[in-house]
Amino acid sequence: MALESHKTNPALNMERAFSDNIQNALSLMYLAKMGQKGNHKKERYGLPAFNVTTVSSINAAFTAFEMLGSSGLLAFSNSALKHFGQGDPIYGLEFVSEYIARLAKKTKIKVATHLDHGDYISDKGRRVVQAAVQMLSSVMADNSTDHLAKASTAIEDNIGLTREVVNMAHPLGVSVEGELGVLAGEEDEDTKSEFSTYTNPDELEKFLKETGVLMLAPTIGTMHGPNKGKPGHKVKLNIELAHKLLAIANKIDERICFVIHGASTLYPEIVSYATDILKKNDLNKSLNNNSLEKWQNFVGTDWEQVKELLKTGFVKINTDTENRQTFLASLLGAISKDAAKIDIRYYDTACAEALTQSYLKKLIMAGNYGVWYEPKIDITKFCFDLSKNLKTAIGTN
Ligand SMILES: [Zn+2]
Repeated sequence: MALESHKTNPALNMERAFSDNIQNALSLMYLAKMGQKGNHKKERYGLPAFNVTTVSSINAAFTAFEMLGSSGLLAFSNSALKHFGQGDPIYGLEFVSEYIARLAKKTKIKVATHLDHGDYISDKGRRVVQAAVQMLSSVMADNSTDHLAKASTAIEDNIGLTREVVNMAHPLGVSVEGELGVLAGEEDEDTKSEFSTYTNPDELEKFLKETGVLMLAPTIGTMHGPNKGKPGHKVKLNIELAHKLLAIANKIDERICFVIHGASTLYPEIVSYATDILKKNDLNKSLNNNSLEKWQNFVGTDWEQVKELLKTGFVKINTDTENRQTFLASLLGAISKDAAKIDIRYYDTACAEALTQSYLKKLIMAGNYGVWYEPKIDITKFCFDLSKNLKTAIGTN
């Protein structure tokens, strides 16, 4: 329940009707935080937010959501929108929002569309955030880091800018994710940082109350990108700090849901699939670019620690790197099987089916299945294996 001091914050308009089967991210996240599936209250589950960058990956995600009856969260970075829009992120937004609205009309699951790392600091970024508020159902107002200046922003500036986004978005029913603290690593060309700072618990209450955000990305030790620390060493998350931050947030408003950025886990089966291909026929030697070494040095976030966070009330798990790795591994596989197939669909289908497998894997790991209806596949028979086509992997062939 909102406190007195919240009165002036614009409430998130839950009456807003989006296009069929589209909801804001917070409403789906709150169900997950409450463990709500259908009419039953079960265990808490997580909502992987898949960063999609191509039409095939949007289709692959929908296939996975529909197989499992999951809540779907599709996230778009600024650079992904530029890719969709042939250089113009606003055109990219128009394209993806219309495309997803069409797909969602045919489905029985619920999905949210989210702007990842919305930059409300630069003029260019601000225009994208303003357009995303009109076209998507959720936006991130990433104002804790000035990515152009490569510096963290002062808390007052972060609060002021984030509050502007909330003022614009909440009356339209669009949920807003704020960020407090700086996350290290490189997500893509527009979002990178060489340093990190933990979220300061002393600042959290002020940030939440003064911005009115109901989704928060704190920094507790995760990193963006495929190299989250030294190979062979687990990145240690600050779980104690996570608990402390959640307790503060829950006191302010129990609907507040936390988001884990840089939570990609590394799939060992994908690494061995890709490295086996690179070793075979001395492909790595002929490529002469250390690809094998790079694959062997990838470090992901430890899933056991992410699971601990899900139990406590973190909900949205930003998931990108392992899907990119799965895509690439499957492309290597398709090429090594036949490098002279003059049909784009052969390679495209192989990669899209691999992405569906990757999405299924993460949704099942997070417990996000059977939310809108019972899964259409037997999840105990699903075997994540890129040497198999999708039908065989889900055990229906
Ligand atoms: Zn991120």
